[in-house]
Amino acid sequence: MGRKFFVGGNWKCNGTTEEVKKIVATLNAGEVPSPDVVEVVVSPPYVFLPVVKSSLRPDFHVAAQNCWVKKGGAYTGEVSAEMLVNLGIPWVILGHSERRALLSESNEFVGEKVAYALSKGLKVIACIGETLEQREAGSTMDVVAAQTKAIAERISDWTNVVLAYEPVWAIGTGKVATPAQAQEVHAELRKWLHANVSPEVAASTRIIYGGSVSGGNCKELAAKPDVDGFLVGGASLKPEFIDIIKSAE
Ligand code: PEP
Repeated sequence: MGRKFFVGGNWKCNGTTEEVKKIVATLNAGEVPSPDVVEVVVSPPYVFLPVVKSSLRPDFHVAAQNCWVKKGGAYTGEVSAEMLVNLGIPWVILGHSERRALLSESNEFVGEKVAYALSKGLKVIACIGETLEQREAGSTMDVVAAQTKAIAERISDWTNVVLAYEPVWAIGTGKVATPAQAQEVHAELRKWLHANVSPEVAASTRIIYGGSVSGGNCKELAAKPDVDGFLVGGASLKPEFIDIIKSAE
């Protein structure tokens, strides 16, 4: 089963109205492979979702960077999955390492969020990844397996899930994983899905890499058989995001 290349752009907590307009204009003018070849999803901060959605080219889609774990209500400052659906936002990023680390989101909490968002019809980019300390201790696979298990235990359909392997030591550091390091973890994750979910889910789920991906290093990473695309932070705010999308070819 072919896995369509996926490129996500995580704008994080960046941008003014003017900057957002500029980024959208650059994306709209970019020459990229057809949507049959690559799926592109950009994720602005909540407040810019409507303007980006209405001004972005139709072959690119938008994602929120988070949503609440259950139905909305008395949860000041939160945004619910239902609200995203109501606004026509198809995707959401969940479990980003910045939220796991800075806001203490546990594996279980992220798993619950993924299950709830899927149940409301959102598609989910679910992030996992180890810290440098964990990698140096040799526990990379244990860490990402536990993070994936907390999701797998709570969902039964993986059709609308993209798994983003983002080693924490590579995020925003300029220290990209080598293609061999990324391939090794992606292949192990696929094995884990094969053994613990199903051979079909292992074969069809896209596993994308994130962490200091740039126009300069994307081609080599994209050439690896189990790297099905990228989640891009810093470079998604720059024109080189177009080059990263082109690495799908
Ligand atoms: C991210 O935040 O998901 C990310 C991968 O960031 P960067 O590309 O800047 O390392």
